Amino acid sequence: MAEEKEKKGFFARLKAGLAKTRDNIVESFTDVFGASHIDDDFYENLEETFIMADMGYETTEKVIEGLKQKVEDSHIKEPAACKELVINIIKNQMSVDDSAYDFENKKSVVLVIGVNGVGKTTTIGKLAAQYRQRGKKVLMAADTFRAAAIDQLKTWADRAQVDIISHNEGADPAAVVYDAVAAAKARDTDILLVDTAGRLHNKKNLMDELAKMRRIITRDYPEANVEALIVLDGTTGQNALEQARQFSNVTELDGIVITKLDGTAKGGIAIAIQAELDVPVKFIGVGEKIGDLQRFDPQEYVNALFADFDEDRSEIDMLIGDDM
Ligand code: GDP
Repeated sequence: MAEEKEKKGFFARLKAGLAKTRDNIVESFTDVFGASHIDDDFYENLEETFIMADMGYETTEKVIEGLKQKVEDSHIKEPAACKELVINIIKNQMSVDDSAYDFENKKSVVLVIGVNGVGKTTTIGKLAAQYRQRGKKVLMAADTFRAAAIDQLKTWADRAQVDIISHNEGADPAAVVYDAVAAAKARDTDILLVDTAGRLHNKKNLMDELAKMRRIITRDYPEANVEALIVLDGTTGQNALEQARQFSNVTELDGIVITKLDGTAKGGIAIAIQAELDVPVKFIGVGEKIGDLQRFDPQEYVNALFADFDEDRSEIDMLIGDDM
């Protein structure tokens, strides 16, 4: 019941958060699908709408090609009939396999990767609190050279009532992982969440560090499953896509977390990232509270982006103000 209420509240915040993106899309959709013919102009206008929403060129092309095929196969003549088709093409493309969350039910080390400021620490704090609520034994570890980041993680650890392993500023990140793995084993931890510092400025270093961490885990904790999640800031649009590309060039990624989807006009980026990287979006964040991170639900997300909601906005605004 409480879970149901939380989910409803989350969806309302997601809808409210994506309002800027949606308002632009819905306005363009009215023009595009209100056209009298399916012709080159129709496809061009649709393409422009998607590009404006930060869906990216490649993804937009894929969706338009998919639509053209459907229009031809089903002999569709009316632009209005294409709206549902487009939305369904995008939903199908975004679907997340059930096995995406298997790591939560295994002994796992979750490596949380991404550049500074995208929301890694916050994401770890939220995940830790949620896993603990579900009865999991959770441990956090910080591979970071910023003292402030360690303090921030400690605040989250207190809030989530989860222990944290950290070293002093400037410690070797691999040494932190080494200690954290030893502690996780000794305490029979279910999920170890590792906050990795976002040093993308030196690819070679980053690659070496992440590889070293993985080696330690494989060697010292072979029974654990490694899940590498990259965190991206949803408000940065195409930059987020570029970061994801760069990280995927240096390390294997199992999933994507997109944060800050509360109040962005670039909500289409989630579609672009998943389509272009072929790595599933597993979680999305819509705020700074514990309940503001949830599993990614493509149906809900695409509805929040494209559906023309008629319900009273004040209800949504009320829910955003709710202290959940
Ligand atoms: P890190 O440097 O990657 O660890 O990023 P932090 O976790 O420190 O987050 C950077 C800032 O983004 C903080 O002020 C967070 O409160 C904020 N933040 C993180 N996730 C979200 C989100 O989903 N929505 C909003 N509005 N802010 C977020």
